[in-house]
Amino acid sequence: MGELPRQADDRGVAARWLAPHPRVAIVHAPTALERLDRLSHALDGPTVWVKRDDCTGLAGGGNKARKLEFLIGEALADAADTVITAGAVQSNHARQVAAAAARFGLRTILLLTETVTGRGDAYQNNGNLLLDRLLRAEIRRAGDVESAPVLARIAEEERAQGRRPCVIPVGGSNAVGTLGYVAGGLELLAQLGALGVNATTVVHATGSGGTQAGLLLATRMAGAALDVLGISVGAPVERQRGRVLQALRAAAARIGISDLHAVDAAVAVDDRFVGPGYGRPAAETIAAIRIAAETEGLLLDPVYSGKAMAGLIALIRAGRFRRGQHVVFLHTGGAQALGAYADDFAS
Ligand SMILES: *Cc1c(COP(=O)(O)O)cnc(C)c1O
Repeated sequence: MGELPRQADDRGVAARWLAPHPRVAIVHAPTALERLDRLSHALDGPTVWVKRDDCTGLAGGGNKARKLEFLIGEALADAADTVITAGAVQSNHARQVAAAAARFGLRTILLLTETVTGRGDAYQNNGNLLLDRLLRAEIRRAGDVESAPVLARIAEEERAQGRRPCVIPVGGSNAVGTLGYVAGGLELLAQLGALGVNATTVVHATGSGGTQAGLLLATRMAGAALDVLGISVGAPVERQRGRVLQALRAAAARIGISDLHAVDAAVAVDDRFVGPGYGRPAAETIAAIRIAAETEGLLLDPVYSGKAMAGLIALIRAGRFRRGQHVVFLHTGGAQALGAYADDFAS
């Protein structure tokens, strides 16, 4: 294969805004944009496309790899030798941080919190946690605590030992990490443009908010009429919208975009598919995972992408998207957690 541009977004608009920011190459970009004919047919609605950010190329893939191009870029620019972050025991973010750190020769400390209680042995040993251990992350366990103060204390201890720590917040959704999805959003828009597909909406799981914030900022920067709909995986609508807006404003300030006219109204979140709570799949989550697997051979997960797909399916059935329209499902990854949720698929 010849010299491809490294990513669609390395040209034009993106080059101008993103080029000044330290960045390392991690993502196998552009990730594929595939048409899901059998799923679209089964749902008898719009043409559903999938943007394969589950295949970003880093230790199982997932959306955090995009953020980590900038987060690790900044850590290296600051001459950090250790990265510290937090997440639930089955955090995909924690696993991808550990992998990116390993790849760039940094130590990793993971603060894993008991945010999801009452799960069995598989949850406590398998899935992402198995991979964290394999990636040689140093693991600290805590109860269901607020992680930011604990991360700050760990960083303080590291500094006292002469190390140079870099703290990455939960989900990597600060100003720097969010730039990864500005790049991801511009990449998606370039692909849709090249295919001549006029998609109405991109639907995806929203948690710490940076993915949605970056996508939305990208549509603004490109002047594209693509709606971004976040399906909440835990928080109620207003809290989730607040997270997205905070990340969006931080990233916009970072790259010098000041015109955020009416952006508040553009942050669309649906919280009806959370089910029993963060890290707890509903029956419809499991059903959505099965449909994607059975019709397309596509692996979703019980914490994020399964809930997002449950949301997309319900919205299609409710007539929100119709035949003849095009909708993009952003697959943010997460299938590495499936083994930790084996019990939910027992029947
Ligand atoms: C972290 C994560 C999300 C949510 O992305 P945010 O940027 O935190 O909102 C969605 N899907 C998967 C699989 C994730 O790991």
